Amino acid sequence: MSHDVLHDLVTANHILVNEGVLDGFGHISVRDPNHPERFFIARSMPPALVALADLVTCNLDGEVVSPASGKTYVERFIHSEIYKARPDVMSVVHSHSPAVIPFGVTGARLRPICHMNGFLGAQVPVYEIRHHAGEASDLLIRNQALGLSLAQTLGTSAVALMRGHGSVTVGRSIQQAVFRAIYTENGARLQLEASHLGEINFLTEEEAQATSDMNDQHLDRPWQMWKDRVTQASR
Ligand code: MN
Repeated sequence: MSHDVLHDLVTANHILVNEGVLDGFGHISVRDPNHPERFFIARSMPPALVALADLVTCNLDGEVVSPASGKTYVERFIHSEIYKARPDVMSVVHSHSPAVIPFGVTGARLRPICHMNGFLGAQVPVYEIRHHAGEASDLLIRNQALGLSLAQTLGTSAVALMRGHGSVTVGRSIQQAVFRAIYTENGARLQLEASHLGEINFLTEEEAQATSDMNDQHLDRPWQMWKDRVTQASR
């Protein structure tokens, strides 16, 4: 089982680059299905280049437990603290995908306007690091306390924006976390476009829930397509 999850984690790194969510930065992790107090993530490197040998195992304090000399991303505490706070979460994506940034720095809140974005819920919470790290931080989640405060802002949501930085997206599987990360970026783009045309008719909370439930039954379909694109791109 772990074996499949590790392969999917490598594929997910490549998919998220291919689909414009990750670039040279950002990361995705998966909880170890056999040891829920551990998770897998790549060592500190560009996601496009991640291979099986680059994966390390971390505990929920954000320490690399295997390999012994392993190192990973500065912002590993995003992952460790969300896994600690959310037993339902099996995968976490952190990205700087561009379309979400405007929604973190203005009064405009990211909300679902399309059935593919229903998982955004009523509206997406925004994490203000200044409330926790003061006025002069580098905006990175570089310790457990900041990871905890981000996890608290996320609450029970699928997505939280990080002011002036990016977003975090969670799922009950790698496939769901990847789907949500891609459609968070997509939803932000759509909402910005729609806002130029006039007042937006958002999904109701009930519509958001119903469309999200529906899409959750078909996560494998886009996953297969995104995976195929990765294969084609590497030829
Ligand atoms: Mn970051």
